[in-house]
Amino acid sequence: VAFSTADRVAVRAMVDDLVASLRGHGASAGGGVTRLVYSQAWAAAMAEIEGWLGSAGLEVRVDAAGSRFGRLAGERPQVVMSGSHVDSVVGGGAYDGALGVAMAACAVRWLRETAGRPRLTLEVLANCEEESSRFACNFWGSRAMLGLIRPGECDLLRDADGVTIGEAMSALGLVPDRIAEARRDDVCAYVEPHIEQGPLLERLGLTIGVVDRVVGVRQLRFELRGEAGHAGTIPMAARRDALTGAAELVLAGEALARDLGQPAVATVGALRVEPGGANQVPGRVDLTVDFRHVDERVLAGMEEELRRRAAALAAARGLELSVEPRLGQRAVDLDGRLCALLEASCRRAGVRWQRMPSHAGHDAQLLATRWPSAMLFLPCAGGRSHRPDERADMDDVVRGVEVLALTLHELAYEA
Ligand SMILES: [Zn+2]
Repeated sequence: VAFSTADRVAVRAMVDDLVASLRGHGASAGGGVTRLVYSQAWAAAMAEIEGWLGSAGLEVRVDAAGSRFGRLAGERPQVVMSGSHVDSVVGGGAYDGALGVAMAACAVRWLRETAGRPRLTLEVLANCEEESSRFACNFWGSRAMLGLIRPGECDLLRDADGVTIGEAMSALGLVPDRIAEARRDDVCAYVEPHIEQGPLLERLGLTIGVVDRVVGVRQLRFELRGEAGHAGTIPMAARRDALTGAAELVLAGEALARDLGQPAVATVGALRVEPGGANQVPGRVDLTVDFRHVDERVLAGMEEELRRRAAALAAARGLELSVEPRLGQRAVDLDGRLCALLEASCRRAGVRWQRMPSHAGHDAQLLATRWPSAMLFLPCAGGRSHRPDERADMDDVVRGVEVLALTLHELAYEA
């Protein structure tokens, strides 16, 4: 199987159309998209998706969490699934998530028309929620499919207006008490197409990133305590300024990641100073260092080094220090066989690719803990994402659909 010139033209028109019509559901200022889970815009987008999946000749199904599936039944019940999420961040772009759904729909449609009935069953996934942008969901759609939503969670999670996620579901005719029914035990492979959300592919002039690993993330919360006092009367030599100590720690984190080189990153995005007056020596600072790497051993080394440098600077400045972990997500390997299949498809389609890690979280990271999973990244203009000017080049997208279709063909027809 291979794409003809006519196939490329048809796929381009279809993906373009799908992305454009989804952009209309939740359109916000400057061409952006705000499509929060279980909102009216989200429901309209899902209705639109059901329409395409049906017109592509797929059997449409809704699970208990509201995710949509377009099914091409095979000779066997095991499912090869591909797709992404339909929700967005506030003021996000039109490609994050939506493009992956559109690409999977086009690939499966092409396979149905070109190759007919598969051996294994193929499903397009339009996942209900991934961004945690309305509720602190932590991968709601994927957790539902893995049976990981805890009893009572539908009544606990609330949005900024105080609406529970269960109430939001009920308003759209979903039944929160039945969410356990969304669990799937029939999936044998998951392939998620997604924009890179970073600048590497574009910078390297590549069309596809074969994602073989999702980074590990750790956050440490540091508290530095010195002595507050009058900004005029306390001589410099007598000060125990918590903020100047914290400033050293911020720079130490930056130096640590720079010295290790890509893909190490370290960020202090949250810092609180007390008492906080312009004429007061800072007595106490709370800050969080977020650091990431694909290698758990390197990550552990970064943590040790951060703790060591913090202890040293606190001692040198006469500050008291306490450190506690705030968050830890282990790095996850994606499936080696699926990555190799994606690479073989890139070779057959004649596109330039490289293996790369994902530095952002994705559904595949959670699904990979249960199902063999892989991701296929496409470049996005300037590496911009989660903002209205997010954009992917349609030539790349068409090549991406081809690579995806060839891979799904291997998985579902040659199995
Ligand atoms: Zn996404």
